[in-house]
Amino acid sequence: MGLIVTLLAAQAVLADSIVSNHTPDDITRVHAWLDTHLDRTVAFYKLLHANPELSLAEEKTSAAIGDGLKLSGFEVTTGVGGFGVVAVMKNGPGPTVLIRGDMDALPIVEETGLEYASKVKVTTDDGRTIGVMHACGHDVHTAALLATGQLLSSIRDHWRGTIVLVAQPAEELGKGARMMIEDGLFERFPRPDYCIGQHVKHDLPVGWIGYGPGFYWANVDSVDVVFYGRGGHGARPHEAVDPIVAAAHFVTSVQSLVSRRLNPVEPGVITVGSIHGGSKHNIIPPEVKLQLTVRSYKAEVRQLLLDGIRQIAEDTSRTFQCPKPPIVKVLDEHTPAAFNDPDLVDLGAGVFRAILGTEHVVRIPSEMGGEDFGRYAAHLGVPGFMFRVGSISAAAYAEGQQGKPLPGLHSSTYAPVPKPTLHTAISALSNMALALLNKP
Ligand SMILES: [Zn+2]
Ligand SMILES: [Zn+2]
Repeated sequence: MGLIVTLLAAQAVLADSIVSNHTPDDITRVHAWLDTHLDRTVAFYKLLHANPELSLAEEKTSAAIGDGLKLSGFEVTTGVGGFGVVAVMKNGPGPTVLIRGDMDALPIVEETGLEYASKVKVTTDDGRTIGVMHACGHDVHTAALLATGQLLSSIRDHWRGTIVLVAQPAEELGKGARMMIEDGLFERFPRPDYCIGQHVKHDLPVGWIGYGPGFYWANVDSVDVVFYGRGGHGARPHEAVDPIVAAAHFVTSVQSLVSRRLNPVEPGVITVGSIHGGSKHNIIPPEVKLQLTVRSYKAEVRQLLLDGIRQIAEDTSRTFQCPKPPIVKVLDEHTPAAFNDPDLVDLGAGVFRAILGTEHVVRIPSEMGGEDFGRYAAHLGVPGFMFRVGSISAAAYAEGQQGKPLPGLHSSTYAPVPKPTLHTAISALSNMALALLNKP
């Protein structure tokens, strides 16, 4: 009996290890600000949407958000890890809350037909002209980050603590968070107790929020593999070593890592996304190059897959008597899995239900996609939470429910409905911050 009481007490302590300070007054204040300022934020969003900048080129976007936050009384530092912006507001004793928004766009020609559609074209280093589009909705995140800063600044008499706003570059390359951390994000600025972020969702209606506790985005690894053969005439294979046959065996046997060696209840993906070798029908080439993407949640699963890829490549190379061992190179551009802290998720979901209604806050499955937001909380070992914000009309959602394909993120026709998407995004971020910050 004594043990049970102790266990229950321990659970009670765990259950309220993150206390919500959210009040109905917070909701009222946030909505009052949105009533008068949302149109201005929508205009800023459309400006961002029409003027997208690629990863590592977020110069004007970062200047705009830096200037806006400075005007609202934040201490702003630009050029943190490339074009990263850090805006700090210290407002008395209380926790430090990091809110992150990403800024970069994608090399896609926009085909939405919107009046504020991007017409931006840039020339690449190798002389090609490509379109640029905010096809992942990072313009929503940037506009919402600025508005959340403006809003929280305007009601600073009603909260205590420190806010650190992070406008992050180069998310699409999976490296912006690391660049900012390596440039001293957690040494030069207040160290956060909580990290929160959001991402728009292409198949959730406006006014809805989706969430999931635990691992939400996956570890992303890129692996280059090269098989070496001995070139020769296609009619005299016995005098050559054919790397195409070796590579073909590797492509199929590497899948057995997921189907046979990984515990079936643990998620893992290996995709061979590119394979190149040879030049002509009747020539056995000297080498074949492959590019793989590898997804996982847990560190031990990641290691099992990466070790297994190396082992199968080396064994295959030996089996086919390749003249030299294969190259198996795990690239440096790893994106770590993002873990949504279950206590912080509980707190957030409670806040979202209070502002949107229970029926508009839904649990959604995790993804094997990557998002480098997870790096912030993982680096510090503090709770982190990224939630998903609905961005399409109720009509489009209904069509999607009936099987009509909806434009996904990274699609040339993805078009969030600006005003209600931003309303939810700003309200969710602000109310969640107010739930974590102290009251005077
Ligand atoms: Zn993206
Ligand atoms: Zn994105």
